[in-house]
Amino acid sequence: MVLYGTVIRATSIKNRETKKDFACKNCGKIYTASSDILEYNQFKLPPVCGGEVEKAHNPFINMLNAMKKKGGAGFNKNFGGTHIGMCNSRNFLPIHGTAQYKDY
Ligand SMILES: [Zn+2]
Repeated sequence: MVLYGTVIRATSIKNRETKKDFACKNCGKIYTASSDILEYNQFKLPPVCGGEVEKAHNPFINMLNAMKKKGGAGFNKNFGGTHIGMCNSRNFLPIHGTAQYKDY
C-alpha cells in the first residue's frame, strides 16, 4: 500500500532536550543527565563528581609520616608520586551533539 499526501503542521515545532551527556571539567568522567519537565527542563547532575583522579600526595603529610619514621629506610619512599582520589568537581560541561530531543 502506498499513501500520498502532504504533511502540514499547524503549530511551530517545539521540542525539549530530554537527555544530554555532560563531562566533568576536571577528570572528564561522562554523565548522562535527563531533564525533568517539572524542574523546568533542568538537567539533573550529581552534586559532585564521583570520578577517580590521580592526585599528588600532600607533601606536608608525607613530611610528617617521614618524621614519624625518624628517617632511616623508606624516608624518601612516599615522596612525590600520586594516589587515586575522588574528583569532587562541581563543574560539568555539556557535550555538544549528545542531546536527545522529544517533540511536543
Ligand atoms: Zn570529575
